[in-house]
Amino acid sequence: MKVLGIESTAHTLGIGIVDEDKVYANTRDMFEPEEGGIHPRKAAEHHYQHALELINNVQQKAGLEIEDMDAVAFSQGPGLPQCLDVGAVIARSLSKKHGIPLVGVNHCLSHISIGTRTTAAENPTTLYISGGNSQILDFRSGRYRVIGETLDIALGNALDKLARKLDYPHPGGPEIEKLAEETDKIIELSYPIKGMDFSFSGLTTETERKIGDVSDNILANSFQEYAYSAVVEALERAMAQEGSKQALLTGGVAMNSRLREMVEKMCEQRDAEAYFPPPEFCMDNGAMIAHQGLIELKAGKNTSISESAKKPNWRPDEVQVNWI
Ligand code: AMP
Ligand code: MG
Repeated sequence: MKVLGIESTAHTLGIGIVDEDKVYANTRDMFEPEEGGIHPRKAAEHHYQHALELINNVQQKAGLEIEDMDAVAFSQGPGLPQCLDVGAVIARSLSKKHGIPLVGVNHCLSHISIGTRTTAAENPTTLYISGGNSQILDFRSGRYRVIGETLDIALGNALDKLARKLDYPHPGGPEIEKLAEETDKIIELSYPIKGMDFSFSGLTTETERKIGDVSDNILANSFQEYAYSAVVEALERAMAQEGSKQALLTGGVAMNSRLREMVEKMCEQRDAEAYFPPPEFCMDNGAMIAHQGLIELKAGKNTSISESAKKPNWRPDEVQVNWI
């Protein structure tokens, strides 16, 4: 079965086509703010402007047409409301026009599903960290339980904010990573962990207040060491609690090499395995939505128009999982 998936929860408009065996295409166009962070209306305008071109592009790349699809899937939430509307509108239109089922999926769960599809992980404890989400999830009794999460902003968002203060463009994560690689020195900062949860807002402000007094590379390195240690500590405790021998890292921040190194080391010490999906499936992408749509379609899901409204605050632990 072939499914076209549309991702539009934040700055990325992604469209992908997959079946059970193959990813036919996975194209994206990212909104890049000229200044500041992601302005929801401007990001949505970007998505509307590029949608048609991207749909044509993905069909060409895949050598397939919408008529060949068994369903069209879209990210129903969580995400920025204006951006979610774009994906929902396109998906409803394609579904109606071509008479194919519509499948609204949870964005966070799609990250996990594409992670297990593209690695050897089977039932991992997942660390999902991106621009808008930071969670540790584990599958138990029909649901993905959120074992730990950020109490304020997402880790990717914190990296983007810090980079912006240091005068680097969006996205900030890779800029902070490059800066951090220039030094081994760190300064003392607050360690942002609270039980199984973590928080990055205070750590970001604390680091920003030292700009000018401490060199940029030491600030970047310190921020990475404190923030990444906190999420890896919570991940380790979640794995211990669940008796898990597999860790899956996903979301845009999962592309960070220092974080990967920390996760690998922690897993090695616990006699566990760490799994990292290829970068194109870590960041937001259309193929993961198509894949999630495919497995839910096969489990009987068909989203009616009246059920297809965006869900900006849709938590992954609200979803009763029937595809595993
Ligand atoms: P996503 O929301 O999953 O598309 O991921 C986007 C987020 O990932 C942004 O906040 C980026 O700054 C962050 N990001 C991308 N590459 C890296 C990297 N190498 N290190 C840390 N963060 C990154
Ligand atoms: Mg994401």
